[in-house]
Amino acid sequence: MEQGGKAALGWAARDASGHLSPYSFSRRVQRDGDVTIKVLFCGICHTDLHIIKNEWGNAMYPVVPGHEVVGVVTDVGAGVTKFEAGDTVGVGYFVDSCRSCESCGAGHENYCPDVVLASNGVDSDGATTQGGFSDVVVVDQDYVVRVPRSLPLDAAAPLLCAGVTVYSPMVEYGLNAPGKRLGVVGLGGLGHMAVKFGKAFGMTVTVISSSPGKREEATERLGADEFLVSRDTEQMKAAAGTMDGIIDTVSAWHPLAALLELLKPMGQMVLVGVPSKPLELPAFAVCPSGKRVAGNGVGSVGDCQAMLDFAGEHGITADVEVVRMDYVNTAIERLERNDVRYRFVVDVAGSLGAAA
Ligand SMILES: [Zn+2]
Ligand SMILES: [Zn+2]
Repeated sequence: MEQGGKAALGWAARDASGHLSPYSFSRRVQRDGDVTIKVLFCGICHTDLHIIKNEWGNAMYPVVPGHEVVGVVTDVGAGVTKFEAGDTVGVGYFVDSCRSCESCGAGHENYCPDVVLASNGVDSDGATTQGGFSDVVVVDQDYVVRVPRSLPLDAAAPLLCAGVTVYSPMVEYGLNAPGKRLGVVGLGGLGHMAVKFGKAFGMTVTVISSSPGKREEATERLGADEFLVSRDTEQMKAAAGTMDGIIDTVSAWHPLAALLELLKPMGQMVLVGVPSKPLELPAFAVCPSGKRVAGNGVGSVGDCQAMLDFAGEHGITADVEVVRMDYVNTAIERLERNDVRYRFVVDVAGSLGAAA
């Protein structure tokens, strides 16, 4: 904590119970290239849940979670050229990177080995980063994105992580072309965004889910063209070899071979969910027809801005349940049970002071 930093109020987890409670701390002194942002809304992502409960064994308590931040610029450093006070902006999963490695040079700073995560990360000065469940964040301008004015700000917040996590690989692997056929596995925070982007790209979108009860939701509410129950071997067989690409969003262990059957030869599967137990990849499911499996982790700042601009043009936001800060522990319990359609967003500015 730097001397003279900006006083901040957030909600933090103190231990592996993951229970959040009010926490006073200090943001770094605004540097020349920094933007100071009043947080308006912040989404709750599955990653937050893993971190605050120390499920990945790397929690640095106290942890202020939150990396789907939408806010308004209140102050900028002397060297800031991209933003000014009053701008509506977003901050996502990471807030800095080394800027000199191969990944940074190629515009894939999300894969920088020294990437600085927005929450529970280590900043270049050694400080632990604290996320968006707080009244203010201070972020280098190069890691801040502009949120289109046409989007409702609460429902835009999940675009900063969930949105870019599915948009980025769709663009990277050419799964954004009209007429192509996309499969989306799992209909949660990530999956429902993939359906929306896929439809906006003009693709034929099939949702693949283990829950038959999600058919109506997928096809009627979200506009998917088709729906497959992954356990129904007849349905799956009938759809074999029909898809150009699959975005697999499932974060629990699940078999891959049956999903790979759905791809055309040389089709592309992209994993964006992160099950803690290793998945099985039988070589017979990929070798004979040259199928490909890739992973994806969020997206670059450039991808994030392109995604937001595209979302602004097409009116794409997440389906959200907006909650007050003092509801956050209940929201996290519900998220663990997947009891949300499809993303919780905390009304930070509207409820933080009152709750504390
Ligand atoms: Zn996230
Ligand atoms: Zn780097």
